[in-house]
Amino acid sequence: MVALTATGLPLALIAPQAAASGTSGTGSTTNRGWHGHPTDLPKVPLMVGGGGAVSSVDRDASQVGIDVLARGGNAADAAIATAAALGVTEPYSTGIGGGGFLVYRDARTGAVSTIDGRETAPSTFTDTTFTSGGKPMDFTTVVNSGLSVGVPGTPALWDKALRDFGTLSLNDALKPAERLAAQGFVVDQTFHDQTVANAARFARFPETARVFLPGGQAPAVGSTFTNPDMARAYRTLRTQGVSALYDGPLGQAIVNESNAPHTVPGMPVMPGQLTMNDLRDYRALAKAPIHSQYKGFDVYGMPVPSSGGIAVAEILNLMAAYEERTGVPTGSLSQVDYLHRFSEASATAFADRNRYVGDVPGVPVAELTSRGFAAERACLFSPSAAQPRPIPFGSPDGSYRSCAPGVAAQPSPREGLSTSHLTVMDRWGDVASYTLTIEQTGGSGITVPGYGFLLNNELTDFNFTPLTPGVPDPNLPGPGKRPRSSMSPTILLDDGKPFLAVGSPGGATIITSTSQTILGYLDRGLPLVDAIAAPRLSSRNGSSEGAEPALLSGDAAAGLVSLGHKLSNAGEIGAVTAIRALSDGQFEAAAETVRRGGGSAMVVQPQP
Ligand code: GLU
Repeated sequence: MVALTATGLPLALIAPQAAASGTSGTGSTTNRGWHGHPTDLPKVPLMVGGGGAVSSVDRDASQVGIDVLARGGNAADAAIATAAALGVTEPYSTGIGGGGFLVYRDARTGAVSTIDGRETAPSTFTDTTFTSGGKPMDFTTVVNSGLSVGVPGTPALWDKALRDFGTLSLNDALKPAERLAAQGFVVDQTFHDQTVANAARFARFPETARVFLPGGQAPAVGSTFTNPDMARAYRTLRTQGVSALYDGPLGQAIVNESNAPHTVPGMPVMPGQLTMNDLRDYRALAKAPIHSQYKGFDVYGMPVPSSGGIAVAEILNLMAAYEERTGVPTGSLSQVDYLHRFSEASATAFADRNRYVGDVPGVPVAELTSRGFAAERACLFSPSAAQPRPIPFGSPDGSYRSCAPGVAAQPSPREGLSTSHLTVMDRWGDVASYTLTIEQTGGSGITVPGYGFLLNNELTDFNFTPLTPGVPDPNLPGPGKRPRSSMSPTILLDDGKPFLAVGSPGGATIITSTSQTILGYLDRGLPLVDAIAAPRLSSRNGSSEGAEPALLSGDAAAGLVSLGHKLSNAGEIGAVTAIRALSDGQFEAAAETVRRGGGSAMVVQPQP
């Protein structure tokens, strides 16, 4: 029998150099710390040091990833182990029942590639599935129903990432998460608040109430929350493999529950349409990344069905084009003028994304991410006035000589605000940037009986009806189709070497939070953790622009309003995590200082 360490990883995984070093905080199997972690690190938003780095929203999850790195695992191993732990401690944002996207730099080849683990629609879906009598169905009714549940992609992504890039088996990578679910974690304010916010709809599903509202209440802050059913789900996956879900009992449980959700008497919800064949047909897909360049760095993002990589690239291209047009660098602008430019760039990118990007053939990816298209779109920019919203979409047709007006203005689709992002770098130069979700906070509200995890409501990311009559909409539902996402896991390389990994949760604001962090760091001269903490503006081409409270009063608000921007209070936007590779082989891991209670940035060997 293989000897296991405290977190359940085989001793053989301990890298010889780490095990032998005896350096404080690395690689020892001595049970020194909290829950037996060899490296017991505090929850902080900034940590610098060597040996590899993990940044996530949650301390327990980051710790799991750091333990994997300390024992010799690589970034893929740590990313999947961290993600699985997030499924336990952030069960309303992520988990087995959802999907996500991984962007990965493989140090063996230096290449960046991606895995699409997005949920898929059942084979019975059509472009009118979310209509009734020719009208869109009520959004909230669909969210809280089996009809919103897509085939989960997360387990398939984990399996593929480990096979393609990792050194751990799925069996080993999921052990720490299983342990966390079985032994429990300490409830923080965020988990408590999210439970309270969802209590009414969770109460509608007896299994969800049993698991997440023990005794009919949201678990108290500071109490220990265990989820033995979820531990069972992880045990099933790691011992039987992902076929337990895609062609086995776990999958059958998902199909049964989504097609006939158990609810309290008198409160039925719409059934779903998933079949075991839909699950058997599911594949996590390797895809070439979106590649663009900004300020001399190579920027890699997620391709379709996410709009994240395309939109981030277009925003950065537009910011560069505004610099060229005006001759004024982003770095020398006042805060108001910078936010004005950023708002114009993101609203423009959303106009194009809403018109052209979805899980359909023929998305003009190369054109949307080209400098020529950005230059044409930038000619409508004025430093002294905001363009009226909605900004019309452009013509990414390869002919960019003229200053073309937009084609047609469309309303914005409805999008949610949940999810989790994690970043990992290891000492060999592997980089993982991974965003995963179950869509809305709490997903569909439906828990799979006996397995303790929530099912996604990802299919509500489809547009229920065309945004504009007569204009093709690439994001209508369809058989086996993947709903358009905004998830933007991003990696920047400097001359082929790891430089920055970044991403965020937050529905469509993911695109703006990720871009604003990159711009804050590269152009605005902010240290990475300050670029993350900076107040956020999310202009997505709607009638008003979501702004955090810090931008709603004082000079920033007055300046933006005088330029014609209409701001609305968006509360807290996003929860970014990022890691920067330093030139001396060290890492700077960074996370939120305040949002969502602060994130958790860790390195294997912290600098004193
Ligand atoms: N469903 C969203 C997307 O894929 C992510 C969930 C959210 O953050 O609301 O873009």
